[in-house]
Amino acid sequence: MDDERSLRLARYVDAHAFRYVERLRAAVRIPSVSSRPRDMEEMVAFLQDVLEEEGWRVYVLPTPGAPVVLAHAGPNGEGVLLYGHYDVQPAEPLEPWASPPFEPSERDGRLYGRGVADNKGQHLAHILGVGAAREAWGEVPLPVTLILEGEEESSSPHLAAFAQTHRGALAARVAVVSDGPMAPGDRPLIALGVRGILSFRLEATGADQDQHSGNKGGLVPDPAMRLAHALASLCTPQGDIRVPGFSEGVRPVGPAEEAMLAALPFDEEEARRVLGLPPHEELLRGPAYYRRLTLEPVLHVNALSAGTMEQDRTVVPHTARARLDARLVADQDPDRVEQALRAHLARVAPWVRFERLGAMPPSRTDPRTPWVGPVAQALAKVHGQAPMILPALGGSLPDYVFTRVLGLPSLIVPYANADEQNHAPNENLRLDLFLRGIRATAEMLLSLAQAGL
Ligand SMILES: [Zn+2]
Repeated sequence: MDDERSLRLARYVDAHAFRYVERLRAAVRIPSVSSRPRDMEEMVAFLQDVLEEEGWRVYVLPTPGAPVVLAHAGPNGEGVLLYGHYDVQPAEPLEPWASPPFEPSERDGRLYGRGVADNKGQHLAHILGVGAAREAWGEVPLPVTLILEGEEESSSPHLAAFAQTHRGALAARVAVVSDGPMAPGDRPLIALGVRGILSFRLEATGADQDQHSGNKGGLVPDPAMRLAHALASLCTPQGDIRVPGFSEGVRPVGPAEEAMLAALPFDEEEARRVLGLPPHEELLRGPAYYRRLTLEPVLHVNALSAGTMEQDRTVVPHTARARLDARLVADQDPDRVEQALRAHLARVAPWVRFERLGAMPPSRTDPRTPWVGPVAQALAKVHGQAPMILPALGGSLPDYVFTRVLGLPSLIVPYANADEQNHAPNENLRLDLFLRGIRATAEMLLSLAQAGL
């Protein structure tokens, strides 16, 4: 009976593959970069059309920024909340693109274009998957709510407030977020959270202009040395963070998470290749590798500048700057981390100015949530292999809106190929995985319904 349903679904999706891919092409053709408001509007209108065509009840709701597209399907009640975003990263630099970023081009079974994987192909798979369930099975197995925001690439500044205000319309029992890449080897993936982020700039200044290091050095402050001192006080050379209070709130790693880490496959050669790590550098292995990547905070310098390397000038530059980001884990609070950093710097490097750039809280869903099993089953059915289950992703998504604001368990289920090149030139989505994503959405709903959601 079950297999018979899956077969009917797979046949339906196959029969409509051409139409689905045309939809995806049309979506990618709209350059919905946040700096292009008219194209953002066109994208919203496009989504409204597709959603209605696929049988969803659609609402476009304003926020102080880009509008949210909210849609419901299936029976009334609390079921699954799906999330995606319709804004895309800017396409620049254009030079390395093999085909123009907003003219979708199919090569070797992949569709190339900005936003095809991040996130248009993934939320279209949700939209189309629900339509496919209705057509192939005669019903959508569960109440489904879809929320599509237009500000994910700008750190989702209005999503949390939107969720507070529209709590009722977003009522559900579990959230499923599809963004980011699957594991290598087309292995499906379920992540039970994300790391958060706090990005900031440090600046040290000295004289009001660059000064001769012989004639004036020693009499003017050296901003680069001062900045270096401040940076060195943050971490050991191995990366252990030394800022008092920084790790406040880090949730202890429990036995369920340890078991999850121990079950993850680890291939040292592959890990070194992916990281681009030379042989003399030490590499964390097995569970330690994944623990560092998903459950521990890290602090990195993104950029550093003072003076110029172009000419050999003997000067004391008048300013030095660094941009850093801290990746945070549940239940660190970006505001508290900022306070800890400011207090530490005020003590050991008072000459450095701290400027916050942006932040997003971390999230984590309890691994014992009963919905992991049914979603894993659905993914295994579609992809022919069991998903990898990660306690969290290393990167950041606005998942805290679902876990903290709405209080839901949240499962992150990426649909894109591991080499999707999101945010980079030649972003692409494998079309077989796009079609599998459509089936996966329908199968997840069925599986969750059968598990009693
Ligand atoms: Zn993105």
